[in-house]
Amino acid sequence: MVLRTGEEYVNAIRHRNKVEVYVMGKEVKDVTEHPFLKPSVLAFKATYDAAHEEDSKSLGRAWSSFINEEVNRFTHIHRSPEDLSAKVKLLRKISHKTGACFQRCVGWDALNTIYVTSRLMAERGKKEYYERFVEYLKYVQKNDIALAGAMTDVKGVRTLRPNEQPHAYLRVTQVTKDGIYVSGAKANITGIAASEEIIVMPTRAMSEKDKDFAVAFSIPLDTEGIKVIIGRQVNDGRRLEDGEIDGLPYRTNHEGLVIFDNVFVPMERVFMLGDWQMSGILVEIFSSYHRQGYGGCKSGLGDVIIGAAYNLAKQIGVEKAPHIQNKLNEMVLLNENMYGSGIAASLDAVKLCEDGCWWVNPMFANVTKQLVTRFPYEITKFSTDIAGGIIGTAPSEWDLKNPKLKPYIEKYLQGMMDYSTEDRLRMVRLLENIGFSVAFLIESVHGAGSPEAQRIAINRVYDYEYAEKIAKYLSQIEKRIEFKENAEPWRRTDTEKLANNGGQK
Ligand code: SF4
Repeated sequence: MVLRTGEEYVNAIRHRNKVEVYVMGKEVKDVTEHPFLKPSVLAFKATYDAAHEEDSKSLGRAWSSFINEEVNRFTHIHRSPEDLSAKVKLLRKISHKTGACFQRCVGWDALNTIYVTSRLMAERGKKEYYERFVEYLKYVQKNDIALAGAMTDVKGVRTLRPNEQPHAYLRVTQVTKDGIYVSGAKANITGIAASEEIIVMPTRAMSEKDKDFAVAFSIPLDTEGIKVIIGRQVNDGRRLEDGEIDGLPYRTNHEGLVIFDNVFVPMERVFMLGDWQMSGILVEIFSSYHRQGYGGCKSGLGDVIIGAAYNLAKQIGVEKAPHIQNKLNEMVLLNENMYGSGIAASLDAVKLCEDGCWWVNPMFANVTKQLVTRFPYEITKFSTDIAGGIIGTAPSEWDLKNPKLKPYIEKYLQGMMDYSTEDRLRMVRLLENIGFSVAFLIESVHGAGSPEAQRIAINRVYDYEYAEKIAKYLSQIEKRIEFKENAEPWRRTDTEKLANNGGQK
């Protein structure tokens, strides 16, 4: 069971009894067959297939020292900088197979976050969370569980703290000796309906008054009291058309609003309870992990878009024109910047405990995500330019399939004779649906924290005072300077300061 196949995963999520999942106002019983959600299940499934396919299985698997077996990397706890780098590479690769966000990384990052956070708490004497978590981790790894991560609360009025508007943050309403009861809602939860379990985490730093909101736990999705409302996306109606061209690549992600209506969580699944001092640390750890990952998945989607733009240029015979080559070259530069930054965040990783809690480099992780808030828009703009106006005006596949219209469409939209008009429409639709997708644009801005969150994190790490000292010394305003050993003018994050080893490299 340790390495499930994609089919085994799909069969495991087919039947649910307690959770309520809604799409466009109607309850969905089998998410694997519903036309709106099936593309998401297929994208999620690719994370299982990757552990079996020849070209990806060396990246898709890892050795777990917790259960002494090979596991799917999406359940693995990173044990080295190379593990972190393999994550970014795997994400780029799976983007090539899905053309979509494949959703499983949030739960994976949550798993690593709770591992590190509970470990740091154990080093300070509070061992129960770590002990519970390791047992849970073994269960996840042995059963290759599909996890979602749920961090973002609905937040209501942003200037009010959780204790000033309790409905806007998930909270603990009752504690018993067996477990806790929670109520509230988590928003924008990626891949939720295609998951088996949710790892819930606090969304922000908390004060002592907010301690009822400082809670982390895991819970099966199929639990009494959980309701999921799936959000809409651009062009999502095409999934319902039963077509084969207009909705390409027919793999996608979904996000949902997850409502917890007095949900019981057994104590063995509770990994933080009232530890308000640690919630800011947990958020810092999680957000950096997920921001690093964007360097892989978004550059992978960038590759698809570059490939589509190149092909469309060929289809109309302009691929060698200097201005087209310049645009393609720009797209590659933007794309490799995102990827390179994610790799740097991995290889320049931070060790937070002696026997291997590896965290990404927080500066590079935040820079990666900040680049991702900008470059996909630039890449899509260049691809739109290369593709021509047809990307917004092409006839539908239903026109092409109408025998009366087909000869006209074939005649008037034909480009180079190496390609058919159907080839052109297929590539246009692929480019349109990925280039303007939630996964490549909206998620790139808001996923793993909106742009301002990275700017704040970058400002916390960058030591402007030290940079100023360097400038003052070189301008001879100051005659002396005490140079630091590190090349980078960076401060340590709160997480590094908390680590017993000070966050070694
Ligand atoms: Fe994974 Fe990227 Fe989707 Fe996040 S946005 S879940 S890193 S594919």
